[in-house]
Amino acid sequence: MKGDGFNLTYRYGLTRRQFIRLTSFSAAALAAGCATNPVTGRSQFMMVSEQEEIQIDRQYSPLQFSSDFGPAQEAALNTYVDGIGRSMAARGHRPHMPFSFRVVNATYINAYAFPGGSIACTRGILLTLNNEAELAALLGHEIGHVNARHTAEQLSKGQLTNIVVGGLSIIADVAAPGMGQVASALGGFGAGAFLASYSRDNERQADALGTEYMVQSGFSPDGMVGLMTMLNNLNQSRPSSIELMFATHPMSAERYETAVQAARTTFAGSRDLPLNRERYMDTTARLRAIKGAIEEMQKGDKAMGQKNFSQAETHYQAALKQAPDDYAGLVSMAKCQLMQKKHAEGARYARRAQAVFPQEAQGHHLGGFADLNLKEFDGALQSFRTSQRLLPQNPNTLFFIGYSYEGLGRRTEAAREYQRFLQQVRQGQYAQHAAQRLREWGYAR
Ligand SMILES: [Zn+2]
Repeated sequence: MKGDGFNLTYRYGLTRRQFIRLTSFSAAALAAGCATNPVTGRSQFMMVSEQEEIQIDRQYSPLQFSSDFGPAQEAALNTYVDGIGRSMAARGHRPHMPFSFRVVNATYINAYAFPGGSIACTRGILLTLNNEAELAALLGHEIGHVNARHTAEQLSKGQLTNIVVGGLSIIADVAAPGMGQVASALGGFGAGAFLASYSRDNERQADALGTEYMVQSGFSPDGMVGLMTMLNNLNQSRPSSIELMFATHPMSAERYETAVQAARTTFAGSRDLPLNRERYMDTTARLRAIKGAIEEMQKGDKAMGQKNFSQAETHYQAALKQAPDDYAGLVSMAKCQLMQKKHAEGARYARRAQAVFPQEAQGHHLGGFADLNLKEFDGALQSFRTSQRLLPQNPNTLFFIGYSYEGLGRRTEAAREYQRFLQQVRQGQYAQHAAQRLREWGYAR
């Protein structure tokens, strides 16, 4: 049992050699980097191998999915999205990549891809789409980012180094001010902390590839026009729930115009292909039935970002009234209570979240955090152990396991966990606390 979590984390994490390669800007490291782009066939500056793309995906996508409250529990919805995504990926430029698609419970409006092919769209964005062809356009766009190796390209240019350097506990604050601080205070991560930001050229290429893939898969190119219309309308009204989407996917009216042109010219012969509106509406019916709850959660998240916790509580309360067993709603309410130092209430909502979705780590993590504050260190230890088993990629859990042991007066175990934590994270408050205890206890100088 001892050391399981750490070994798992390390195995999925970057090796020391990869870490140095990714973060070093020496001439020797740069000399290694040219590869043939799978989409264009042209030579591309590249320091990241395909194996490393898959490894980075395995390390970071589980953290992002958990931060987004895990996959939607409605199996039919995930199966539907995964089926459409996989059939498109199989026709694309990198069919051998380990693609997978899911709906995540988060309510902000976004979709994203990790470099190995792990792709997600939120419940929030599904509510804004009108038909299956628009969903195919969205997934096709994300497949385009993977196939053209955009994350690897940004990593190679040094645009994404904050993902891998500097310790995980600080990047949440950097990447997502507001929600990031809320999340990191609770040992979690800010929304979008692990998401790549793409250039405008990347976006253009992903749109073009997405249109190609969706038409090959039998959808009308008008799906891309519909998707761009929706994004443009949101861009003009700018609800806070879409800010992250625009931070990670630069938008412009130009993209809409390009989609219209492509549908009229290159893909004119395919405009009679179906949009499949009815099937989309049928499959998302249960989601659309709780639209009101999801909009309340979006408002709650906005208030949390502004640290207006009482207003956030009102919105989450309204959301839970409409959807009492909603995992995202329960976790958000637990966070909101904990931020207000109402620890017993926080513990109650965390336990309800655990009960509705026991396989997801956040509910356990927040339960542990509440127990720590209530000085119930045994309960905290159990919760953090469960959280670590479910999400071994989160190094902060090691710190909290150590902190629970410290509370129980079990210094040897506490020191062991703190040492493991410090092997992965060297900066930030937690690292300072762990290092100080190790010095005080004579484990380090
Ligand atoms: Zn994009």
